[in-house]
Amino acid sequence: MKILVINCGSSSLKFQLIDSESEQVICKGLCERIGIDGSRIVYTPEGKDKITVETPMPDHNKAIELVIEALTNKENGVVSLDEIGAVGHRIVHGGEKFTKSVVIDDEVIKAIEDVSDLAPLHNPANLIGIKACQKAMPGVPMVAVFDTAFHQTMPENAYLYGLHYSYYEKYGIRRYGFHGTSHSYVSKRAAEILGKDINDLKIIVCHLGNGASVSAVKNGKCIDTSMGLTPLEGLIMGTRTGDIDPSVVEFIMKKENLSVAEVNNVLNKKSGVFGLSNELSSDFRDLEEGYLNGNEGAKRAVDTFAYRVVKYIGAYTAAMGGVDAICFTAGVGENSGFTRKIIIDGLGFIGASLNEEANTVRGKEEIISNPDSKVTLMVVPTNEELAIARDTYALCK
Ligand code: ADP
Repeated sequence: MKILVINCGSSSLKFQLIDSESEQVICKGLCERIGIDGSRIVYTPEGKDKITVETPMPDHNKAIELVIEALTNKENGVVSLDEIGAVGHRIVHGGEKFTKSVVIDDEVIKAIEDVSDLAPLHNPANLIGIKACQKAMPGVPMVAVFDTAFHQTMPENAYLYGLHYSYYEKYGIRRYGFHGTSHSYVSKRAAEILGKDINDLKIIVCHLGNGASVSAVKNGKCIDTSMGLTPLEGLIMGTRTGDIDPSVVEFIMKKENLSVAEVNNVLNKKSGVFGLSNELSSDFRDLEEGYLNGNEGAKRAVDTFAYRVVKYIGAYTAAMGGVDAICFTAGVGENSGFTRKIIIDGLGFIGASLNEEANTVRGKEEIISNPDSKVTLMVVPTNEELAIARDTYALCK
């Protein structure tokens, strides 16, 4: 079966067509600037060069039309429309309602709408993507795969904040966690690589990309994760603060005379390693270069980022009563041996011993610890699209 995977944002839409048997990507691409001037679709059919079409895309319906046209056109198309057996949608927030992927029906759409105030930027865009696909491909089954679902196994003591309990009861304010598809995929893959039963393992997954989060996976179940009600909490990220004292928000608002929207923009877009490096960059390639060239801001940003990761690893080792494997994934985790080394240098307390030669690996599965290391250190590239395609196939075959 050919599965179309859709990741719909407010002005962008990423897609991949995946063959469920071979698990090969048949075509992947991106619609950019939906509803904005200068929109375009960029896609790469398997074995061909990248194709870019600049064309007006007033809304997501048009974007989906263009995706289907790209997949099926005579010249570069890779399938006929009736070959697309199912569509898997990445949904950011499933609240407490969704603990696993589900086939989409009216009730599911309503439930996703109901939790939209927990992810006001993401869930409405995800819903638009679902509705546009339903319109363009009537009768094709669709599946919702939630970023939050894997974390729903967290115990109450991990997901509650120290707030008045009524806020949880009234509004569902609690830790939900994100990147769940990635944490689930990587922890399972790590167990496979190690040839061990995931039910006997304590794994810490460090998903270090532009957005970054850590999770503690004990016996195959997530027991804690660093992102919270929203993806702002936890690690220092590309441009997001991660954990700060909540009082800082009011303090900055008063000092700089900022509105709620403006301070939110500061916390989400002007902070993280970008802000710490005095706006040198949010990209770890630039920061690594700066660090090696003696740029103080770059050093400050990367060292502070790494320290926060080490702290979470320490906390989650305590939470699980030990750790067998630590996995690095996503853009930075998979590609930056430099940043991995700075983190791992802080892990002597659990007997982590880095194999520096193995640590030169980029974007490939690799064990990067020495044989005598007390904890196995691993690079495990994530593949959220494949995980979505697998769930979709499992529910629709
Ligand atoms: P997201 O999906 O959250 O946008 P990714 O997981 O794609 O992020 O990670 C993107 C980040 O990965 C980039 O901003 C960059 O910092 C980092 N990155 C990618 N390649 C490299 C590399 N070769 N060396 C260091 N960092 C890299």
